[in-house]
Amino acid sequence: MNTTTYHFGLTGYPLEHSLSPRIHTAALRASNLPGEYKLYPVPPSSQGQSELAALLDRIRTGELQGLNVTIPHKQLILSLLDGLTPAADAIGAVNTVYLDDEKLIGENTDAPGFTADLGRFFEEIIQEWQYTIPLSKAGLVLGAGGAARAVVYTLVRDGWRVCVAARRTEQARELLRGIADARGNQDTYGSLTPIQLEAGTIRRLAGDIALIVNATPLGMAPQVYASAWPSGVPFPPGALVYDLVYNPHETALVRAARAAGLPARTGLGMLIEQAALAFERWTGITAPRQAMWESVHEE
Ligand code: NAP
Repeated sequence: MNTTTYHFGLTGYPLEHSLSPRIHTAALRASNLPGEYKLYPVPPSSQGQSELAALLDRIRTGELQGLNVTIPHKQLILSLLDGLTPAADAIGAVNTVYLDDEKLIGENTDAPGFTADLGRFFEEIIQEWQYTIPLSKAGLVLGAGGAARAVVYTLVRDGWRVCVAARRTEQARELLRGIADARGNQDTYGSLTPIQLEAGTIRRLAGDIALIVNATPLGMAPQVYASAWPSGVPFPPGALVYDLVYNPHETALVRAARAAGLPARTGLGMLIEQAALAFERWTGITAPRQAMWESVHEE
């Protein structure tokens, strides 16, 4: 019988609107495991690094059994860990920390969370819309932060050509260079294009795009009317739209894409899956995904 009382948590800043406590508490309850999931807000100040280090020490001492990491610490935390899983290393961002053989290991469950939910999205639209995924397989990722890294990593691994559009083109270029280097394959870079996130550039490119992924925070509550898709630019015909933002359940981008007749969804499925994978890593048992889903559909 498992007698551990689990202490999990999330660090980042700000954290008030996080759904993670609700999702993980539901997972613990449904699995009949005693425990809690707490928020550890750490502002991005000069003391931030030492506060993060102190929090990680609590995993080393066994006081905490697992920690999630979100904006703005997903990349900063790398230097405080003893090791990374191969995917976290290639992506250059960590959202889950655990202790393995007295070593603090950083993992990225956003990437497999995105892959799983994108796969479900494809299956649904293949069935409901008799949709065929175009052979061109060109994806456009809006934003070039930590989540975009996880998305680009999985798309490239799955054979997509990828454009990354960022308001600072240099950030998109760095992201793509990092992914190509991690794959040890300079040829990869030829199929990756950094572009400026602005109307004219997106309009010129749009005809080639089969999948649009928003990896900026635009549209997230309370700024629910914002969208990363430039206004006045028509969506590429037949493209699929995946918005990583999950609050509200229908974002302005998803609403506009659906109004244009395109299949579109928000990132709630990815959120649940990345949490489920972290829970499985920390507890060693299969996550109760249904209970985790229900916890965010309660209100
Ligand atoms: P991040 O590291 O801060 O990156 C955000 C990216 O968006 C950066 O490239 C940033 O550019 C860009 N951006 C921010 N405001 C912008 C604006 N007004 N116009 C154009 N670009 C803008 O954040 P992240 O960790 O990648 O997260 C991005 C979003 O994905 C968040 O809303 C987060 O909640 C969501 N997310 C969802 C899941 C899920 O499970 N569904 C998982 C991870 C993340 P600058 O650097 O120039 O600001």
